[in-house]
Amino acid sequence: MSEQLVDIIVSGADIVTMDPANPVIKGGEICVLDGKIFAIGTSAEIAAKGITAKQRIEVSQSIVMPGMIDGHTHLFQNLGKTLGDGLALLPWLARFMLPLAATINEKEALAAIRLGALHGVLCGTTSIVDNHYAPVDSRTIIDAANAMEEVGVRGAVARGIFGPMVEGGIRMNCDERLFKYSAAEEIEITAECIAEKPSGSLVEVWPAPENVVYLDPDLMMACDELAQKHNVSWHAHCSESQFEVEIFQSIYGKRPAKWLHDNNLLSDRTTLAHGIWFDEEEVSLLGQAGATLIHNPISNQFLASGIIKLGPLMEAGANVALGTDGVAVAGQDMFEAMKSSQMLQHMRELDPESSSAELVLCMATRNGGRMMKKKIGQLKEGWAADFVVVDMSGVHQQPPTRPVCCLTQSTRGSDVQHVVIDGQLVVENGRSTKVDQDKIIADALQASSDLIDRAGIRELVVDWFEPKKH
Ligand SMILES: [Zn+2]
Repeated sequence: MSEQLVDIIVSGADIVTMDPANPVIKGGEICVLDGKIFAIGTSAEIAAKGITAKQRIEVSQSIVMPGMIDGHTHLFQNLGKTLGDGLALLPWLARFMLPLAATINEKEALAAIRLGALHGVLCGTTSIVDNHYAPVDSRTIIDAANAMEEVGVRGAVARGIFGPMVEGGIRMNCDERLFKYSAAEEIEITAECIAEKPSGSLVEVWPAPENVVYLDPDLMMACDELAQKHNVSWHAHCSESQFEVEIFQSIYGKRPAKWLHDNNLLSDRTTLAHGIWFDEEEVSLLGQAGATLIHNPISNQFLASGIIKLGPLMEAGANVALGTDGVAVAGQDMFEAMKSSQMLQHMRELDPESSSAELVLCMATRNGGRMMKKKIGQLKEGWAADFVVVDMSGVHQQPPTRPVCCLTQSTRGSDVQHVVIDGQLVVENGRSTKVDQDKIIADALQASSDLIDRAGIRELVVDWFEPKKH
């Protein structure tokens, strides 16, 4: 028997592969070579192949699962964590998020991105789509992608594009300081960033026309063209709240997703955050196009936006991935998002069969991989070695009689032991192997304090808001 030497073997865990052909391997081993999964199977199967490793990681009472794919977040918002509680969307934007976004500088944004990416990775997230919209000069965007790569995470910086102020932006009370570039400049800067971080980079750059409601229609189309030309996806907020759909309809005479369809903007490149308020025709058009919706259950609850129509969208053929959205409301822990999404769907349908542990795991992994157009989100030979080892021995996890339910309902990000991304061990025993965690925390604390003062939002920092009703 000839011996094969690989980089890493993880052994001793049950493996939840997310591969429909072979979903669970009891007592499994996973072998990593050159960033990819070289072999996966039971210990006996791997032993029979004569595979040995440079590094062997023995675990017990653990599950190996694909790393989670956070399909929509805004890492820079980390500096505003815990602020804005109890405000409705418009005052939340006006008194908190827009002043923060209009004031943040590159140094502060990068401190936030490092903190957020680190938190995500420590919680078992191996890919992040960071919709970064402040600041958006080419240097900051490329540095943002580099900062994510330093932490070791895969993903995309979806560069926030605003262009010229249009009627929808005025009606949405958007801060005009964000609309600082012309449409031509937006496309040029984004193209420059994509050239630096093209399709296939560990962290790519995508165009992100921020919101269908307040983007110039020609600029929306130019973003899709740019994405197509460079073989990347594009990303936008769409139909998050009822009032933005009403504003859009009153300006354009049709609903947002119908408008996207009529302008040939729905395809498998289209990745839309939220996607809550679609009518039946829109659901069917999104499904036919194979577009991706990113469900952000915690943000949707916090801002009282509504609940995605999960069943109809999936039945129509749409791809529904999962995200954390802005950390100012949600943090980066995808385990929280999984649990929350299951409960929320049960409440929407008043039907406990409307979602399941397996379904939310699919959204967090397999469907995220489909969105990223990469061989990620499932563990099988030849696919990327992006996986996590989750400790299942905690008191809060006992007894894990059905391990997949334990993963989605009892497990926390802090239970993640080891994380492998692109074949590299980026988290070992709950600590980053790539960056100085203490420095990242100290830098983010300083940046947050500076930004709160400069943005003029110190009034939100109070010890206690007496509840109105008590
Ligand atoms: Zn968002």
